[in-house]
Amino acid sequence: MLTDTFGRKHNYLRISLTDACNLRCLYCMPNEKMAVTPSSKLMKVDEIVGITKAFVKLGVTKIRLTGGEPLVRNDARQIIQQLSKLPVELTTSTNAVLVNEYIDVFKEANISSVNVSLDSLNADEFFVITKRGDFKKILGNIYLLLANNFKVKVNMVVVKGVNEHAILDFINWTKDFPLDVRFIEFMPFAENKWDRSKVVSYVEMLDVISTCYAFEKLRDEPNDTAKKYQVKNHAGTFAFITTITQPFCSSCNRLRLTADGKMKNCLFSQGETDILGAYRRGEDIKSLIISCLKDKKEALGGNPNFAVTENRSMIKIGG
Ligand code: SAM
Ligand code: SF4
Repeated sequence: MLTDTFGRKHNYLRISLTDACNLRCLYCMPNEKMAVTPSSKLMKVDEIVGITKAFVKLGVTKIRLTGGEPLVRNDARQIIQQLSKLPVELTTSTNAVLVNEYIDVFKEANISSVNVSLDSLNADEFFVITKRGDFKKILGNIYLLLANNFKVKVNMVVVKGVNEHAILDFINWTKDFPLDVRFIEFMPFAENKWDRSKVVSYVEMLDVISTCYAFEKLRDEPNDTAKKYQVKNHAGTFAFITTITQPFCSSCNRLRLTADGKMKNCLFSQGETDILGAYRRGEDIKSLIISCLKDKKEALGGNPNFAVTENRSMIKIGG
């Protein structure tokens, strides 16, 4: 079992398949043109599978494929198929632009739950946030997932002055559809122009919702990053991911692998361990994984006030 020096057991690996994306979300991507990692530096299918097997042998039981946009990779299908043969719960985070092309692959791979990013229910506003993308198609793909019995979590990053007014639209959406909407506090990454004044806190969001809806607190699962609620008689639920105002580091069970094969023991860690390089040299990567985990800090990568921003951008880390 992958246990760190604070006794936290790590069984959840988030693998970024690429830092390329077909959207340009303003809270995620740098404004300037970003160079995409050349494919020779990305983990290839067999390398992803080989490295993942080492994590699984060490105790990983849940894997999320993320990015960038994982589904833009030409070989995403093979990656999903290969990883689905491992004894893990496999899942993915996507912007849903290409989901209609993957429904069958998801089913074959026994993926039961998909996280979709969507930050507005208004097509014009969606375009301002993502700078491209077909809102109608994405919405259609969310309904397609529901129609095919996938559990769908919708992630909305709330940025002050951009989309906080849409919170009630999302709550209203849960009335008739069994969606789990998660409001995410805006987090700082390289070049995403974060500052604390743009964060809408979980308490502020709850206040807004309570002006229109009566809701109840639901039980949160162990290691869950989200605080869950439900409006009475709504088919879906809503939740908050409170990284900024109430971090959940004490129960963290997450490890990350970037698309170029670097392990990060925390979303906010400065350090990275080159697992792919070692794997390509035929070295023992299990001991590297263990030693990377030993360096994990107690909270927020050892940067509790988010003062140091020399991290990668979110799209380079993999969300
Ligand atoms: N492209 C996929 C998607 O959008 O779901 C997967 C990658 S994306 C980086 C993963 C998650 O990170 C998304 O839910 C996105 O909203 C979230 N995210 C990106 N930048 C963020 C930020 N600055 N603060 C909070 N969440 C962020
Ligand atoms: Fe792309 Fe997802 Fe980042 Fe948006 S949040 S730019 S969809 S990786």
